[in-house]
Formats: sequence, C-alpha cells, structure tokens
Amino acid sequence: GMPAPPPLTLADRRKTRQLRVGSVGVGSEHPISVQSMTTTVTADVNATLQQIAELTAAGCDIVRVACPSADDAAALPQIARKSKIPVIADIHFQPKYVFAAIEAGCAAVRVNPGNIKKFDDRVGEIAQAATEHGTPIRIGVNAGSLDRRLMAKYGRATPEALAESALWEASLFAEHGFHDLKISVKHNDPVIMIRAYELLAESCDYPLHLGVTEAGPAFQGTIKSAVAFGALLRRGIGDTIRVSLSAPPVEEAKVGGQILQSLNLRPRKLEIVSCPSCGRAQVDVYKLADEVTAGLEGMEVPLRVAVMGCVVNGPGEAREADLGVASGNGKGQIFVKGEVVKTVPESKIVETLIEEALRIAEEMEPA
Ligand code: SF4
Repeated sequence: GMPAPPPLTLADRRKTRQLRVGSVGVGSEHPISVQSMTTTVTADVNATLQQIAELTAAGCDIVRVACPSADDAAALPQIARKSKIPVIADIHFQPKYVFAAIEAGCAAVRVNPGNIKKFDDRVGEIAQAATEHGTPIRIGVNAGSLDRRLMAKYGRATPEALAESALWEASLFAEHGFHDLKISVKHNDPVIMIRAYELLAESCDYPLHLGVTEAGPAFQGTIKSAVAFGALLRRGIGDTIRVSLSAPPVEEAKVGGQILQSLNLRPRKLEIVSCPSCGRAQVDVYKLADEVTAGLEGMEVPLRVAVMGCVVNGPGEAREADLGVASGNGKGQIFVKGEVVKTVPESKIVETLIEEALRIAEEMEPA
C-alpha cells in the first residue's frame, strides 16, 4: 500500500549548528532529545549507573550528573564508559572539575559561568581542553546565579539579561575559535524563559537546551514545562529539553518524551484515548483508564487505545483507535481496527484489552 505520510508538525526547526553529545546528534538536523539528571551521589557509581539505566529505559537520551566533589570527579570516567547514553558532567564553582570531566571522557560538560569565579579568564583553557577531546560545552545560565555585572545592569534576571549573559560567554568561546556550544537560559517563570529563548534564537545559531528551572512538584512542573516548551517548539526553537521536577528523574524523562510525542517531534508510542467521564458513564472510567495504562506500560509500538465510558462517543472513538472499548450495561464492546471483535463482561475488559494489545503489538514493527 501507500506509505503513511510523515506526521504533521507545527514548525520547521530553527537552523542551528550541529554538534555531537557522544552518540547523540544535537541541532536542527537531529531529532530533539530528552535529558534528565541523576539524583544519586555521583561518587556512588553503582547507584548512579542503576539510575541511568532506569532513565534510559524511560526514554531519556542524554543524562547529566552533578560533580560537586573530588570523589564525584573521580567516578566520572567509569560512569561515562559504562552508561548506555551520553553523560554530561554538571560543573558549578570549581573550574578544575571542568578539566577533570573533559579528561574523564564525558560526552559534554555543562558550565554555569555565573558561579564559576573569574570564569571569563578561564574560557581559553577550557576551549583548548574541550577542543583536544572533542567535548562540547553547554553554557547554562540560570536566573538564580546570574552574573553580577548583568544583575547590576538589569536589576533582575530579565529575558534580556539572561540572553546577554549567555551570548557574552559564547562570544568568549568564539574568540578562541570554539563553537561546539549549546546554550540554556533557565528561569522558573515560563514567560521570562520563553522570551529569553526567543531572544537567543534571534541572535545566534547555537543549539538551544530548553528548561524551566525549579519548575516545582510534578503537577505544576509538568504544566509549566509543557506550556513553555510548547510555545517555543511551535516556533521550531529547542534542540534538547529537560523537564525539571521535584520528583524522580524517570518522571522527568517520561514527561519530556510525552511533550515531544504530543507535538509529533518524537514517534508516538502507546497513546490512551480515554474520555473524561460524565453523568452518562456506565463504568468507572478513571479506574479503567488507569488499569489499562498500567497494564500496557512500556509498550514500544505506536498503539492508540480508546477507553470510553458509554456508547455516546464510545464506539466512534473506539473505532478510530487501533484498539478500544466502549462500555455500557455492565459489558464492554472490544473494537480492533474498527470492528467489534467481542463483547465481554465488565470484569474482563482490562485483561481482554491487554491481551488484544499484546497480540496487535506482535504484528507491528517497533516505532
Ligand atoms: Fe460521557 Fe460517554 Fe463521553 Fe465518556 S464517552 S464523556 S461517559 S458521554
């Protein structure tokens, strides 16, 4: 038959320079990648590698690890070597760890110029070491640690101050002939963050790493990040993303992946189309949707599963999906590719859906 058309997206990517973070290409020629950051003590190599493995399984493309002590720096070579996804070392305060991370074979190093003393004087040495090892640098400006000079100039972390800080540091690297840069300008206010990234996008062609910093607990942080990233991705701005949540990093990776899937910027995997329920529902829709979601978690194929509470929109949505159920009268009509394949009692809906999903998945190619 005819090949399926590519999925609709909302914008062409903003054209950027390309760079490689280990095995992952970053920039407009590459898919947008999802990042997260470990919460383990980096020096605890086993715990850190275990968390990285969990992140990898959750769809994380690149992982960042903190490096606040000499023990952490000493653990970097082993972590960088054994991780299945590229490892970025996150360096604050101590320039010596920038060099340690580069020598450790980290796929990239993130520096926060705002809290490394006399950072500007060290740019030349950093650029040289990074060039020798082919290590890209992320300039990660943060509203909470903005350069004093810019705080004095702007009074607070405005979009202009954030963008100017990052562009200034980038220009110092450029003076040393170093362009393997990725830039982030994070703020906890999505409006300021969006504006700052728009300014950056207008003023440079470096790849941009999107983040709303200190976005909060899962509910608030998910919404802040989704709204902010959506506004930027809609304009093609953003090459890597990190959702910051006061929640386990696996949740960050899942939310990040879901944001990209929602905009067709990453192939869709399992998608549950479930109704919000209403006074017509003849089944506990929330429970049914949760049970189906849990039962199908981790499926690697792009399956749309409709879970509908009644027969008003039920059969219609269930028919549009690969698989679905429309409930009513204590029974569930199970649809596969638009055909009712069976009608089962309510107590058998979940297991029947899971059974059918696994059968369909076997016939499909992974996304
Ligand atoms: Fe209400 Fe039925 Fe629509 Fe669900 S499918 S929201 S129960 S009308």
